[in-house]
Amino acid sequence: MKYQERVYNFSAGPSMLPLEVLEQAAREMTNYDGSGMSVMEMSHRSADFKRIIETAEKDLREIMNIPDNYRVLFLQGGGHLQFAMVAANLMRSSKKADYIVTGSWAKKAAKEAAKFGDVRVVASSEDKTFTYIPKVSKEDFRSDADYVYLCANNTIYGSHYSQFPDTGAIPLVGDFSSCILSEEVDVSKFGILWAGAQKNIGPAGVVIVIIREDLIGFAPENTPSMLDYKIMADNDSMYNTPPTYGIYIAGLTFQWIKAQGGVKAVHENNVKKAAMLYDYIDSSRLYTAPVAKEDRSLMNVVFVTGDAELDKKFVAEAKEHGLVNLNGHRSIGGMRASIYNAMPIAGVEQLIAFMKKFEEENA
Ligand SMILES: *Cc1c(COP(=O)(O)O)cnc(C)c1O
Repeated sequence: MKYQERVYNFSAGPSMLPLEVLEQAAREMTNYDGSGMSVMEMSHRSADFKRIIETAEKDLREIMNIPDNYRVLFLQGGGHLQFAMVAANLMRSSKKADYIVTGSWAKKAAKEAAKFGDVRVVASSEDKTFTYIPKVSKEDFRSDADYVYLCANNTIYGSHYSQFPDTGAIPLVGDFSSCILSEEVDVSKFGILWAGAQKNIGPAGVVIVIIREDLIGFAPENTPSMLDYKIMADNDSMYNTPPTYGIYIAGLTFQWIKAQGGVKAVHENNVKKAAMLYDYIDSSRLYTAPVAKEDRSLMNVVFVTGDAELDKKFVAEAKEHGLVNLNGHRSIGGMRASIYNAMPIAGVEQLIAFMKKFEEENA
């Protein structure tokens, strides 16, 4: 089906970007800031691009309050490459790493890391199809583990950490792909905090890695250069041609967040949107949200009718109303409304109105 207007796109990723960002990119598409060329056509060594990447980093540092002893890297290879890169660089001493498995992405990360050393799953919520965040305490981690790994927001199952475990002196690594910039985070609690861009920042192809300086430089000698954080950091993310256009869009999104009043203001809006949706689901006769209340994601709202056929009908009819990509991940079915930063309140209101109508017609 073809739409005349932009739809409310509830895709989990790549996902909706702020309209203002897209419109600015459109205005600048063929002639960026008087350069006479598109950012896509520009040398990554040019003064214009240097300004783009430096401003993007400066703005990200500002909105995330990133301490000075952390480096910000703009890399490629998606989330999946970080699954390997984290292990390749951080298994630097005992070659032991402890993983908390709260969903498919953390599970995949653990599996990949096992190629590099001794991976132990310290806790998992797979027993209840990842509908909660398992509680762990400092004693659960091996004292000589090189790092502890978690996924901050489980995009597929719709669960989320509201409080991170205390790992003591062991560096904590967090995959923030689907919640970066959705709420304030204390970066200093993490050794590495990384995120693929395509959920809340910009186009697929950029990965943001925020890494504490003392964790850089431990990749073994035979590590491919592109997988070595030190080489990436020493070359200011420009060892090779970086994903220039994606970095430019990421920079526009950071400016958009500043214009919204920063991450705090964006978070307040996200809390509002998620509460509207969960409150309605909890009050309805037709829909249920399977995730434990205290662990529910602000970004990915998972719900079901309990009838797989009816779920399919819901997704198809919603699409006709301009509410698209509401299907759950192919591995679990049901419905998932991804309501990242760029989803306006009006989109959530329209979704709820449609859900009510569908409930009246089908309950
Ligand atoms: C999407 C996602 C990934 C996978 O990212 P790719 O860029 O497709 O490799 C990993 N972790 C989380 C939390 C995600 O949401």
